[in-house]
Amino acid sequence: MTTHPPVAVVTGGAAGIGWEIGRRLAADGYLVVAADRVAGQTAGANPDGILWRELDVTDPAAVDGVFGEIEADLGPIEVLVNNAGIQRHRGIEDLSWEEWAAVVDVNLHGVFLCLQAGGRRMLARGDGRIVNISSISSRGSAGRAPYATTKAAVIGLTATAGAEWAARGVRVNAVAPGYVDTGVFRHGIEQGTLDLDTILNRIPAKRLADASEIAAAVSFLAGTDSRYMNGQTLYVDGGFMVDYGIPLAKKPL
Ligand code: NDP
Repeated sequence: MTTHPPVAVVTGGAAGIGWEIGRRLAADGYLVVAADRVAGQTAGANPDGILWRELDVTDPAAVDGVFGEIEADLGPIEVLVNNAGIQRHRGIEDLSWEEWAAVVDVNLHGVFLCLQAGGRRMLARGDGRIVNISSISSRGSAGRAPYATTKAAVIGLTATAGAEWAARGVRVNAVAPGYVDTGVFRHGIEQGTLDLDTILNRIPAKRLADASEIAAAVSFLAGTDSRYMNGQTLYVDGGFMVDYGIPLAKKPL
């Protein structure tokens, strides 16, 4: 009998943070499938052997179909990382309905659809781990209304699914990254809607995160060392969320 390595699916896993998550899970011993609407880095040099399945996470039939195909071809999905996400920078008063809806569709509806499709399969076996990718923007973030709203909603969905499924063998947790020099962030820098110096100054660690540091937290939540964690959000942000952000004007005496 052929034994297959456990399967991990990373949505939006063909680029950026998702790609690094896939590389880390491959190093952890998973057969990794990047479920992404583009082939991205899976099409280039790919020594980690990360597979690619075309998927738009906003399409309910496609999500269920692709998850079914992956299980039929490769075996049960043991780990699902809901990483696909997009960003639009604009003030609330100027946002178009299309911009709002596009972000909500990918960042919230997409996470729900994959969580449900993956979760149902894991519940049937009584085994699985799901990690959702939120953001520090979940605290509220000027100029990013749909992004901040959906990333906060992901924390609520994670807590709820984590509680619902805790006694049934399926753990759901989230990672909320700080700023990482990948697509969502780079797009803002290129557009001129984000300023690197302002951002670095606001981060207590005074640097961006490396995508591998986000992947390490995902690896922990996907593994057995986190077995008593359900519905939690882990912030990997160089101290961003714990700092009020206003330094003293003078050093205390
Ligand atoms: P990237 O844009 O580099 O990668 C995201 C990947 O998801 C892309 O390949 C993208 O494809 C894909 N994708 C987008 N929409 C869909 C869809 N509908 N279905 C399937 N795949 C899709 O983003 P990052 O790596 O920067 O971000 C990854 C996650 O981390 C996101 O959820 C983001 O919100 C979150 N995050 C990022 C931070 C950062 O500073 N970079 C900080 C905090 C959180 P395409 O290129 O076609 O859009």
